[in-house]
Amino acid sequence: MTNKIQNLIPKPYQGTNPSNKISDIFIQDSFSKDDDRLWVPLSSGRWSRPLCYNISQGYWVHLTKVIGGGFLSRHKHPAPVHGFVIKGSWRYLEHDWVAKEGSYLFEPPGEIHTLVVDENCDEMITLFHNTGALLYCDENGNTIGSTDVFDRIEVARNHFIEVGLGENFIDQFIR
Ligand code: FE
Repeated sequence: MTNKIQNLIPKPYQGTNPSNKISDIFIQDSFSKDDDRLWVPLSSGRWSRPLCYNISQGYWVHLTKVIGGGFLSRHKHPAPVHGFVIKGSWRYLEHDWVAKEGSYLFEPPGEIHTLVVDENCDEMITLFHNTGALLYCDENGNTIGSTDVFDRIEVARNHFIEVGLGENFIDQFIR
């Protein structure tokens, strides 16, 4: 009876979990400010911080970071996307809203949109949960390229090898 809060905390669950349960992912410091190697460069001024690459359900969860403004991509998704803005701001040219720190968005399958980060945004960080693929489009909506979870794994694996973290470093993010 020394601490009221302690009294309210139950014992940890002592039972079993399914034997075929896969392991969780816990990342203490997703921003990795002390280790830039965790940020996978995708193009000039643009990085991706892997959080979860799900190869059985075909989705990936990551942080997108953009330094300096500009056009990122015009694309569509065959499956839904969830996004949450952590820092900075960005918008789709096709919408009248601006995604800012604290904004959440659901992107419906099928929509084509053009992502730009405004010039006055020093640094943008957004968490995206992408399912299926990103299909890059020209201005007429024709698909001109694509990326999926397997492409993302390959790019990240090559990067981690290059910066000395090894070819197995990527495995901790794959489920
Ligand atoms: Fe999108």
